Amino acid sequence: MEIQFLGTGSAFCLHNYQSNLLIKKNDQLLLVDAGGDLRFSLNNVGYSIRDIDALYISHLHNDHIGGMEFIALFTYFDPTRLPLKLFIHQTLIKELWENALKAGLSSVQNKMLTLEDYFNVHPIASDHIFEWQDILFTLIPTTHMFNGQLTILTYGLMIHDKSSGSQVFFTGDTQFYPKSIQTAYDQSNIIIHDCETSVFKSGVHSHYDDIKTLDQQIKAKTYLWHYQDNVVMDFDIWQKKAQHDGFRGFVAKGDRLTVTENGVSRYK
Ligand SMILES: [Zn+2]
Repeated sequence: MEIQFLGTGSAFCLHNYQSNLLIKKNDQLLLVDAGGDLRFSLNNVGYSIRDIDALYISHLHNDHIGGMEFIALFTYFDPTRLPLKLFIHQTLIKELWENALKAGLSSVQNKMLTLEDYFNVHPIASDHIFEWQDILFTLIPTTHMFNGQLTILTYGLMIHDKSSGSQVFFTGDTQFYPKSIQTAYDQSNIIIHDCETSVFKSGVHSHYDDIKTLDQQIKAKTYLWHYQDNVVMDFDIWQKKAQHDGFRGFVAKGDRLTVTENGVSRYK
């Protein structure tokens, strides 16, 4: 299994792409989240939508779903393409269509369409599990924000590659609540952690200064992403700081992690 980072930036990055990634297995590609800059970030690593087999959506913010309208129209009007498989928690589907995608996608010439016309939708049930290419994905709900009425969750992933035996924990966008995800921290071989690096904390992401307080054994298997442009501007300085603080380090757009039974290697 290989993981490639299309982008490693926050929603507002200008010198990076948004934090979306590809999982490669058996010559197939699963896209994890599809932000508004997807067509550029995919092209940047030499792929197009034609190369993607399936899509997983962690939550409904623009840096994670803003590219879905493009994917939908691109595949719908390509007669050689089948709709992408869409893996998504069942509770997100109605809001995804009604509040985000319907305006741009419900009407085409002579027809009214639905989400199912554009995607081969695989709703993920309350068991929080789906499989793709002999990889078992377990959804890990994390708290992104409270809007005054509702807690808005992100569905992070424990990615269990059966052929290598490795477990990669992808936190998704999350506030810093280590107790709520301690089991996932402990069970994983590698962690890909949301990491805000702004001077002022937004309160809806895990900030570097807070993640830094995690146990050394957790930090030693943690890669950081979803950071602000200040890291891009001084990447070597931030990388040294992160490694000095005990992390594996920041990942950059285009980086790849190869996950085998012998461990995880990072490539540019
Ligand atoms: Zn985000």
